Parts: sequence; C-alpha cells; structure tokens
Amino acid sequence: MHHFAVRDGHLHAEDVALATIADAVGTPTYIYSRATLERHWHAMDAALAGVPHTICYSVKACSNLAVLQLLARLGSGFDIVSAGELARVLRAGGDPARTVFSGVGKRDDEIALALRHGLLSLNVESAGELARIEQVAAALGLRAPVSLRVNPDVDAGTHPYIATGLRTSKFGIDIGAALDLYRLAAASKHLRVVGIDSHIGSQILELAPLIEAIDKVLGLVGRLAREGIALHHIDIGGGLGIAYRDEATVTPAELGRHVCERVRGHGLHLIVEPGRMIAGNAGILLTRVVGTKHNGAKAFVIVDAAMNDLIRPALYDAFHALAPVVANSTAPWEVVDVVGPVCESGDFLARDRSLPHLDPGDLVAVFGCGAYGFSMASTYNSRPRAAEVLVDGAAWHVIRRRETVGDLWRGERLL
Ligand SMILES: *Cc1c(COP(=O)(O)O)cnc(C)c1O
Repeated sequence: MHHFAVRDGHLHAEDVALATIADAVGTPTYIYSRATLERHWHAMDAALAGVPHTICYSVKACSNLAVLQLLARLGSGFDIVSAGELARVLRAGGDPARTVFSGVGKRDDEIALALRHGLLSLNVESAGELARIEQVAAALGLRAPVSLRVNPDVDAGTHPYIATGLRTSKFGIDIGAALDLYRLAAASKHLRVVGIDSHIGSQILELAPLIEAIDKVLGLVGRLAREGIALHHIDIGGGLGIAYRDEATVTPAELGRHVCERVRGHGLHLIVEPGRMIAGNAGILLTRVVGTKHNGAKAFVIVDAAMNDLIRPALYDAFHALAPVVANSTAPWEVVDVVGPVCESGDFLARDRSLPHLDPGDLVAVFGCGAYGFSMASTYNSRPRAAEVLVDGAAWHVIRRRETVGDLWRGERLL
C-alpha cells in the first residue's frame, strides 16, 4: 500500500502532482511519501505488539538524513553496516542505544566508533571478528555488547545476489560452530553476550524460510540457556518482500503472528531489521523522456534516468512498474524497452514493456524505488546524482539537492 495515485488524470504523491515537482527541481528525481514510510513502520510496530521489540530500520535501503530523522522521530532504531551509516544515524537524531551494527567487514576503527557510541549490539559475523572486537574493547577499557549472526543454512528462495542464509554465502557463522563461540564470548571480560541474530536474505516472499530460520535459531537459544548463557534479544533480521507488480507477499501481521508466539516463550526482546518493507514502495523515480528510436525489430524509449540512478534492473534483473505521469487515454499501446543514456547494454529500466505511446518531454514514474534506489546510485558516466524530495501531504521538501558537475570532481586535482 502506498500514497502514489492518479487524480484527474495526473499522478500524485499524496496531495502533490508529480509534474509540479518535475517543473521545479527537474528530473531524474526520487520522490518519497512520508505517509507511506510512516504507515509501513507502524504496520511493523503493530504486528510485533505482542512482545517487547525494537524496529532497527536497515539504513542501507534508503539512507537520506530526512528519512532517517522521520523514522527516528517515530521511535525507530537502526541497523547499520558502516561507520558512514552510523554517522548518518547520529546526524539524523537516531539513538545509538537502539542501533545494531551488521556486516562481514567491520574495520577496527569502525568497531571502536561503535563501542564509543554505546551501540545496542555488534552483530558478529565470524570467529576472527569476535576476537578483534574483544581486542578493540580491551584497548578502550570497555565491554562490547555482542550478538552472533548465525547462518541457519536456509534457502530464502530469492535472487542469488540477495540470498544470505545459505552455508555457501559469506554471511554469518555456521550455526553448528556458534555454540563454541558463545562459550568463548561468555567467558570474556571484554565481551557482553546480548543476543543472537540471523538475516537470510532480501525480497523474501514466503513465510516458511523465515520461520525455519527462526526455529533453528531458537533451538540454539535453548541450548545456550541450558549452559547458563542467557540472551537479551533475538534479532530476526529483515528481508520481507514487497509487491513490485502483483506478487503475493508476507504481511508484517502474518510474520508477527508466527514470530511473537515463538519468541514469547523464551522471554526474549525481539529485534527486526526491515529495510525494503518500509522504504521500497514509499518511493518512486521520476524521469523524463529524452527521445524514442527503433533499432531493427525493437522500439526504445530513452529517458533521463539510467542504471547509475537505479541499478536494480541491471543488477538483479528486477522488475519495476512504470506509468506515464499524465494519462493520455487516446495514446496507442506499444511494446518498448525503456533505457537510459549510459553506455552499457545493461542500462535499462524495463524491457519488452507494454506502455502507452510516449513522446519526448513526457514524464514517467518508476515505482518501487524507495529502497536500494538512490542508496545504490553512482555517478557512472559522470552523471550527477538525482535530487531527492519528501512529500508530506500537500507540502514537499527537497531533502537532497541535485548534484552538480562540480560535485562530481570535488576532491580530485589536476597535476
Ligand atoms: C540489508 C539488510 C537488511 C535489510 O533487508 P531488507 O530486505 O531490505 O529488509 C537487514 N539486515 C541485514 C543484516 C542486512 O544486511
């Protein structure tokens, strides 16, 4: 559910016509709906009301400061994967004591920063990392709160690039090896065992793998309890899929029903790390048609957004729905590839898509771009990154100005 809809033939974000924003700030532009972001966050919060819980929004999904600030004001915690993301959380007014630190490659300086800021938990990805965290904590004279990210060897049934719960992936600690590491951690005076964590992938559309992972993790929780290693929380990661077209999804309520019941018996605090579920359908990418062309049997619509702005189609073969911003009911339908100006054949937003005829100058909305959209954007082909706008009812705010060519070479020098 989102707040982008056609009114009087014009596509709106909440109460603002998208064409108004395009006229004022140009294209390509990412546009987020505050009402949608808040609705999704509250849906997750309500779904978990049966147990004490913390929503740690996955910053990498959409990391604009204003988006983080909005979520922080709702009381959200955060899931970060770098010192840069921690800095964003702090800048946006987020609470470090409600922030968890994930990721397989935490550097010592990042670990130290996390410890100094009093993060809720460092989600540990390997035995080597646990040892380094212990060293860094000892050097600072602190006790590091740790949670082992176990790899439950569950197939999330998603794209291989975003499946993280199989033994062959780089993520997590083999669940069979975790018990020994917990014993080590529990015996260390520079580590404080606070929880257990798993995150098996992203864009997961079935409940079964999520539940299978949780049950495996809870099995380990039981063994730990019998050894006298008590945990404060279980972190079940993120990964809930969203509808990019008409996929059936697992709703937060469904997940909550199954999870709360399981977690309650163990007396654990529950942490979830949703990213896509909160931001994905809360954002669109607004782009303008530059031109059209035919090559052999193919028809192309060339727009001013490209793979550097939205890499998901190229990287994951992802589907994004597209629609003209101003409806033209007399336009004939055509099957086209919608492509950008970047010099790569992988630079497409949609392939073999049936759309009403588009002319140069027409505006097109690309849906489902709120997560892993701008946050994965680059300046490839020396294309300044897009502007970002947050719509709030009838008001709208530029929350990131469009980059300039000068921004592109900031930090470079001539010799
Ligand atoms: C990316 C990531 C998430 C968020 O995943 P979504 O599919 O966007 O919900 C949560 N936890 C970890 C550890 C991640 O790497």
